[in-house]
Amino acid sequence: MKKLIFLLFLLFPLFVSAKPRPLVWVLDAGHGGYDQGTSMRETLEKDLTLSIVKEISTLLKKNKPGIKLILTRSDDRYLSLEERCNIANNANADLFLSVHINSAPNPLVSGTESFYADLRRSNNAVRNSTIVRTIDRSELLAWLLQKNYGETGRPNGRGARPKQLYVCQNTNMPAVLTEVGFLSNIQDAAYLTSKSGIRQIAIDIYNALIEYYTITKDKTEKKSLLALRRSNGKNSGIKANKIKKEKLAEVEQPLMATVSPTQTFVPVRDDPTPEEVERMVAEELAAKAATEKAEIEVPVIPEKEEVPEVVEPETSSVPTPAVPVFSIQLFAVSKEIKVDDVRLKGYKPVNFKRSGNLVKVLYGSETDYKLVKSTLITVRQDFPDAFVVAYLNDEPISVADALKLVP
Ligand SMILES: [Zn+2]
Repeated sequence: MKKLIFLLFLLFPLFVSAKPRPLVWVLDAGHGGYDQGTSMRETLEKDLTLSIVKEISTLLKKNKPGIKLILTRSDDRYLSLEERCNIANNANADLFLSVHINSAPNPLVSGTESFYADLRRSNNAVRNSTIVRTIDRSELLAWLLQKNYGETGRPNGRGARPKQLYVCQNTNMPAVLTEVGFLSNIQDAAYLTSKSGIRQIAIDIYNALIEYYTITKDKTEKKSLLALRRSNGKNSGIKANKIKKEKLAEVEQPLMATVSPTQTFVPVRDDPTPEEVERMVAEELAAKAATEKAEIEVPVIPEKEEVPEVVEPETSSVPTPAVPVFSIQLFAVSKEIKVDDVRLKGYKPVNFKRSGNLVKVLYGSETDYKLVKSTLITVRQDFPDAFVVAYLNDEPISVADALKLVP
């Protein structure tokens, strides 16, 4: 009898906890209140992140009502990074996702990227299975976000990477900070300030969360993570097709019904016309030229995640002649084409270099070889034969020779 009582005592917690606790997901709209984040003219990061998070929340509530959602803020208010982490930690949340908009000094830098904490690198990390699972799930979501951005016309993904970010390192659950584009890049900015762009970003994130949900529920995360790493975020592995079908079925119907203009939090603009985009490009370039050296903005809140990933190499006012420039050659033609030629597939800026009786079509120009090399990966989705070329003082040189000149 004693034995039986003891056994019941041991089993008791199992009965009590038989009803599973609902999943708790925390969605964090970056910045808020007097912390505006990055900006482009009247467009503020804090407003865009809130719009996106609200749309994701609407989609999840409609399609996954079983998941308890917590928004760190649902209006325009200031929250410290610590407070954001506390909200998630105190709720014992299962997932934390922070949404941000990027900015870089180099206006050519564009695209999406997602970060997770690499706790394995920190000194005092206790390597137990929970931590490893948390890291893996963080990376899994980061890749799924990148995969979904890439699937809907955002080809220039900058990947999923570990980064020392406060909100990722001080949350106890899988956590990702995603940067949905660069307000400092004209094409990204046009997308980010359009209704359809904001809506699509919210759908991309929602789809990534649904895939994350399915993969973690089916416990296929190891397999999916490997597949995503190997494919640079193109493929989540054997479950991909099934998820894709579910995803479409779930999303297609409710989207039209749930998203109405009144639900958009900030007054976002209608999609800019090509003329408007052209005008914006011209204005931005003029503004950049005018303020090139004038302003160094001191952010009100020093925020770790706002340190720009890509910093332009220091350029003196007198250009040093021995700095090679790298570009991506998309293709060559027999005579010059217009910058809006369909063959360019919307790539800008391009320039043309005559070489014998051919005109080489070059995309971008950068002194940072690594940046060009990583851009090439995504460019090849549109131009499989594209490759990196180098120029010194406007004369072509081999990439190998150019790299010898790079300090
Ligand atoms: Zn931010």
